[in-house]
Amino acid sequence: MGNRRPLIAGNWKMFKTSEEAAATAKEIVRLVLDVKNADVLISPPFTSISLVREIIRESSVLLAAQNLHWEKEGAFTGEISPAMLVSAGCTHVIIGHSERRAYFGETDETVNKKINAAILNNLIPIFCVGESDEDRELNKTFSVLDKQVENGLKGLALTDAADIVLAYEPVWAIGTGKTATGDQAQEVHAYLRGLLEKKYGTSFADSLRILYGGSVKLNNIASLMEMPDIDGALIGGASLDPVTFSKIASFK
Ligand code: PEP
Repeated sequence: MGNRRPLIAGNWKMFKTSEEAAATAKEIVRLVLDVKNADVLISPPFTSISLVREIIRESSVLLAAQNLHWEKEGAFTGEISPAMLVSAGCTHVIIGHSERRAYFGETDETVNKKINAAILNNLIPIFCVGESDEDRELNKTFSVLDKQVENGLKGLALTDAADIVLAYEPVWAIGTGKTATGDQAQEVHAYLRGLLEKKYGTSFADSLRILYGGSVKLNNIASLMEMPDIDGALIGGASLDPVTFSKIASFK
């Protein structure tokens, strides 16, 4: 088994003005000082990234964006390039979140272009995959994940598992209060690790961090983190409050 350091990642989505983001980031820096068991990452909206970067600069807190565009630059009104994110201080970027797939026309093909562009620019993609309620009921969970992983990583010759993070986020569990049980999530994480092993080999798969996301809270983080193939969490709602988020980050 690889030696995988847990990653606890907060996705702030479209929440927090610059003032609110700055105040939250300050609190998080203070509250996670004692968190030694995991890496901690936050992803503010684009408008607060530079500000938050200054606040977390001397800390171990990592910074992600929630999206990017794959082109280097150009007439793409409203879009943000990988180089812009790097210069604003991001090391990571969330790609293929189910909200972007559902509401903003993100497809496996655009996800693939974005992952490629992120890696070319030394940004670590947090690549989100997950089945819907209906997929699960129709027993299509694994075939949906096969397709998302295969298409999302098409043409990518990955050699270092540190270059990417995978996030399993069952759509039925996001923002719904319905969490996958530890056993349900473990089953899928082990499956995903197997897929990546077939693609990139055993040592890559052993070192790859696979996060679980979907209504992670203080009362379920420990039972999820007990599972051998769950290497951290991607947290929406519960990441907005710095006290709750930092308690989740010290899940032990
Ligand atoms: C997410 O947005 O990635 C997420 C998992 O949200 P929540 O924790 O609110 O379900």
